[in-house]
Amino acid sequence: MSGPSGVGKSSVVDGLAQRIPFFFSVSMTTRAPRPDEVEGVDYRFVDHDEFERAIAAGELVEWAKYGGHLYGTPAEQLERERAAGKDVLLDIEIVGSRIVRERFPDALMIFITPPDMQELARRLRSRGDTSEADVTARLAVANDQIAESREFFDHFVVNDGLDAVIDQVADILATVP
Ligand code: 5GP
Repeated sequence: MSGPSGVGKSSVVDGLAQRIPFFFSVSMTTRAPRPDEVEGVDYRFVDHDEFERAIAAGELVEWAKYGGHLYGTPAEQLERERAAGKDVLLDIEIVGSRIVRERFPDALMIFITPPDMQELARRLRSRGDTSEADVTARLAVANDQIAESREFFDHFVVNDGLDAVIDQVADILATVP
């Protein structure tokens, strides 16, 4: 699953978790934790050196720079859970999504879009921890991402209400054999 920062992906993931079984891929990041985030649950928070070490050791399926920070999907948990027959849900940005599309051609790729850019700006600001410069940067990135997503995502879901978007994503997942 991908979509611009602030579109509500984390809430969609949380809502889905109440409805269907899956393993959430816990990414590694150099970003500092937000107040409500838990180490090992939301992310593995690491410093730059540790992230570089993981890249060099080939421990990441994909990684990308976003908003000045590094984010990547650890291979070990992904392979372990897939080998156990579990569905694995990744919440990642678009550069990494393209790599996942190439490495796992059968991955189901869902892109969540905002109803419009004003709403996205409002959501980013309402987080309270994102600076105005960051909001501007993320909106510019979002524009590009939405355009690029058309090239390789399977499904597009507009987030104009959390329950509705969770229903739609659950319906899409239910179509997978
Ligand atoms: P945030 O800092 O708001 O949690 O995340 C910023 C962006 O990084 C989001 O679009 C999120 O989906 C993306 N992201 C989180 N984890 C990963 C990852 O492992 N790989 C990639 N490529 N993007 C990620």
